[in-house]
Amino acid sequence: MLLTGTETLHLAAQHGWALPAFAVYNLEMVQAIVAAAEEADRPVLLLAGSSHFHHAGQTALMNMALTAAHSTSAPIGVHLDHCRDLPEMQRCLDAGYSSVMIDGSHLSFEDNVRFTHEAATLAHRAGAWIEAELGAVPGDEDVSTNALPSQTMTDPLQARDFVERTGIDALAVAVGNVHGFTANPVTLDLERLNAIAAQCPVPLVRHGRADCRPHSFEAPSAVGLPKSTSTLNYAGRTSPRSSVRYRRRCQMLTPSPYGGRAAPLSRSRR
Ligand SMILES: [Zn+2]
Repeated sequence: MLLTGTETLHLAAQHGWALPAFAVYNLEMVQAIVAAAEEADRPVLLLAGSSHFHHAGQTALMNMALTAAHSTSAPIGVHLDHCRDLPEMQRCLDAGYSSVMIDGSHLSFEDNVRFTHEAATLAHRAGAWIEAELGAVPGDEDVSTNALPSQTMTDPLQARDFVERTGIDALAVAVGNVHGFTANPVTLDLERLNAIAAQCPVPLVRHGRADCRPHSFEAPSAVGLPKSTSTLNYAGRTSPRSSVRYRRRCQMLTPSPYGGRAAPLSRSRR
């Protein structure tokens, strides 16, 4: 079933659960994640877009993810990740996405507020919830290796102002986390994270990779950082179906340089 609304996100924040969100690029990755969610009977988000559209094509990936969500008994949200284009966001909302992330982290604070507020109005009008980013999480989920922690961390007081002025439902934070893969564990600034959580009235989101050892999930979850986004190599570690077979399968299927079997399609295939 398609997971709609923010209830699961808030429940996860209150109880210290993780709501995992995994990037998908093709049918097989969608199937693997949905099968794992069914087996565990746990909610999960499929990240279908914006950079993921380059591989299977926008219409194809949107339809795969939404059809899979509607066809299973497991609660599956379909989420537009890192969108910087409002018309693209509107197309996904019109198709039936349950949530979106608008990324104005490249803008000045005031421009980010204006951009995000406009996006939040569109998302809520369509019945979807919306996440936005303040500060900047370095790197790119699809291609980054060994990105350095951000020089633009999320400021706790600015975060509260940002949430109140934009009306977003979840906030992605930069607290030492980086996108992509790193040779060594990346450590979160938990003091900053706690300060943000104390100020913010909405659940927080961690993007990319930090220290992936199990203890690293406990403290973030305890301070209301329930949604965690990542690529499938990471999913292989954290999924309820984290068998060797599953990991091998995912690594073969991912079109990212880490698994590297499928070549990206050109933009003309979108
Ligand atoms: Zn991200």
